[in-house]
Amino acid sequence: MENEKVQTLEGTFRKLFAVSTNLPLKLECDVKPVLDGKIRENAERLAFVLAGNAYFTIENTQSGNRFTFRVSANKKESEVTHWVCVLTGPDNLSNYTFIGFIKAGEFFHSRKGGIGNDAQSVRVFAWFFKNLKANSVPEFILFWHMGRCCRCGRALTVPESVAAGIGPECASMVSGF
Ligand SMILES: [Zn+2]
Repeated sequence: MENEKVQTLEGTFRKLFAVSTNLPLKLECDVKPVLDGKIRENAERLAFVLAGNAYFTIENTQSGNRFTFRVSANKKESEVTHWVCVLTGPDNLSNYTFIGFIKAGEFFHSRKGGIGNDAQSVRVFAWFFKNLKANSVPEFILFWHMGRCCRCGRALTVPESVAAGIGPECASMVSGF
């Protein structure tokens, strides 16, 4: 499956740049897992979440639900190391609402942003973060890091767009997508 993807990618690349099939072509995908916007290892996911300015989407492939979160480092000297926010509007860089914080490696909900602890986004984050630390996130949960549109450079958080590397509006204007 992964190999098929690499072959398709190589074919497209050769066609686009008129690279002859006689010319040996070493793609990064030959040696690394296919880079499709998903982070698969829990240790890497945790490192990403806590890196300081992380935007990511958690997708439940069983229910079809997903949430986009922003976890940013607390720059002040404090026991609180990170602020946790959830995407609540159409602008995936700025429409975030505060839901809690991370202190001593634990997530704590906060009501300050106006979202209660019974909200699904809060429950999803608390559950995901706990399972991430325990290395027990089920297979049906996907973790997507934020992408960039290859045409306009806009931030991408919808899984299909992250995987494609292009937003839906731009995709409709570029042939081949
Ligand atoms: Zn775009």
